[in-house]
Amino acid sequence: MNHSSTGGENQLMTAQSIHPARWWQPENPPSIRCHLCPRLCLIKPGWTGFCGVRANLNGQLGSIAYGHPVSVGVDPIEKKPLARFLPGTRTFSFGTFGCNLGCSFCQNDSLSRGYYNVEELPRYLAPAEIVELALQHNCLSVAYTYNEPTVFAEYVIDTANAAAGKGLKNVLVSNGYITREAAADLYPLIDAANIDMKGFSEEFYHSLCGGSLAPVLDSIRYLYELGKHIEITNLVIPGQNDSEEMIKNWFDWVDAHLNKDVPLHFSAYHPAYKMHVERTPRETLYRIREYGEQRGFTSIFLGNI
Ligand code: SF4
Repeated sequence: MNHSSTGGENQLMTAQSIHPARWWQPENPPSIRCHLCPRLCLIKPGWTGFCGVRANLNGQLGSIAYGHPVSVGVDPIEKKPLARFLPGTRTFSFGTFGCNLGCSFCQNDSLSRGYYNVEELPRYLAPAEIVELALQHNCLSVAYTYNEPTVFAEYVIDTANAAAGKGLKNVLVSNGYITREAAADLYPLIDAANIDMKGFSEEFYHSLCGGSLAPVLDSIRYLYELGKHIEITNLVIPGQNDSEEMIKNWFDWVDAHLNKDVPLHFSAYHPAYKMHVERTPRETLYRIREYGEQRGFTSIFLGNI
């Protein structure tokens, strides 16, 4: 498989045993419009969408990542991070590859921007095998994490159903960049989520992530309305999303749409990928926590310090 290094649409040269994808329709056949995330890629035959995961195979959409976790591990649930969900337990974690955002400050670009030849994908792990491994490792939950799980949502849904059938909880660690159409199928299966809110302005999302903030806020509200356990992480990048105004506006939004007890994580940035600004000073995070606590927020956590 060949892929564009610029992160646009990627040409698919070969395809074997690719799982059928959901949330799409033909448009100017044999092209396809993918409805999984707000990017709404129009995908020509033989190509993948922006995420590098969803491929047009002769007019049918397929998920290359389905059944092929690239990264698998057993983590403390606090590492997701989830501070207030099944504390002290282990979660069986896996991710595949690809991402539907293009953040210049990505902290995990080897997975998110990594592309894999279909022939070289890791061995197939069926949803039931994932659940079996989780039980063998004494985990109480399965976490969809490491890369963006939205792009392998079909695999998440099948695994989540299998996990729930064995009494395991389902944990989603996501950027929340998903259409409501797909979220309506996925989010009801999730017990707890940590959503990344990357910076509280549309300008930030447009210029540094190649996306939009509004769908992320919609996803957070939707999870909250569904009564799911939700925690939110904000990676704080010096000079980019740490202004007093942005932080104040973020707390205002949480106060107005959620509540003051929702766990909010603020993490220090480490120079990575295409952005090489200084790492976040601890004082910045301490200042954010102090400000939030003064306003009555009860669950502020600092990470990477
Ligand atoms: S999930 Fe998003 S980025 Fe991937 S093909 Fe579909 S619309 Fe494009």
